[in-house]
Amino acid sequence: MQPVTRFAPSPTGYLHLGHAYSALDAWSRARSAGGRFLLRIEDIDRTRCRPEYEAAVLEDLSWLGLDWDGKVRRQSDHFDDYREALAHLQAMDVIYPCFCSRKDIAAAQSAPHGPDGPVYPGACRDLPKEIAAKKQASGIPFALRLDVAKARALCGPLYFDEESLGTIAAVPEQLGDIVLARRETPCSYHLCVTIDDALQGVTLVTRAEDLLPATHIHRLLQALLGLPAPNYAHHKLLKDAHGQRLAKRAGAPSLRSLRQSGVSPAETRIMAGFPG
Ligand code: GLU
Repeated sequence: MQPVTRFAPSPTGYLHLGHAYSALDAWSRARSAGGRFLLRIEDIDRTRCRPEYEAAVLEDLSWLGLDWDGKVRRQSDHFDDYREALAHLQAMDVIYPCFCSRKDIAAAQSAPHGPDGPVYPGACRDLPKEIAAKKQASGIPFALRLDVAKARALCGPLYFDEESLGTIAAVPEQLGDIVLARRETPCSYHLCVTIDDALQGVTLVTRAEDLLPATHIHRLLQALLGLPAPNYAHHKLLKDAHGQRLAKRAGAPSLRSLRQSGVSPAETRIMAGFPG
């Protein structure tokens, strides 16, 4: 089967070499096998995403020599799809409102640590439904969380195929009861990415290895929502000269700054560690 891959950046800044690697990886896997390469803009966070960064994504990828198939999917055009999925999960009773702030969670003595920092200790999980409803009605801000243990019990053991790791048993508990929606953003990365990969017919999800824990949650969401499970390939993170992962915040040079200083697309591919 010819693979369908995708590159799915968030337009919160300019692309850097780490993005270039991810995009080239997904693109070349599709192109070398006669498959399709899709582009998706993950812009649900309306406070951090900007149209000029989105325009720059398209421009920088084209400059690098990448082309994509079909229309670009912009997540902010599809809030209805995510709302529908959330309603489905709500009807399955695997979601609960959580009134804890980020500070409360970080301060909780018992908060265990997961691969992405403190794991939500579950303070609101067993809040009686009438109390939760009263709090919601009184306007206290809340997030909707997935009751991972309950969801797991409904789905039974789950597996996914990872290119270098083989068949992996999903352990969605490692990230705890993740947030599926907040007041400001009616859906979360985990929910949107799972739905979009299925709706776009992606058969091979390629992304950096820091997102491997997320894949375990996505497998659970796929099972709950009756969506197919794609294959996965997680690649190494690109590091700078100090061994730190490349990040906008840490001053990784953007593709456009390389371009402006006269670096060619071919040289950029080599710098990204992707000379092929
Ligand atoms: N928008 C995510 C990012 O930029 C993409 C993650 C993914 O490929 O699933 O990190």
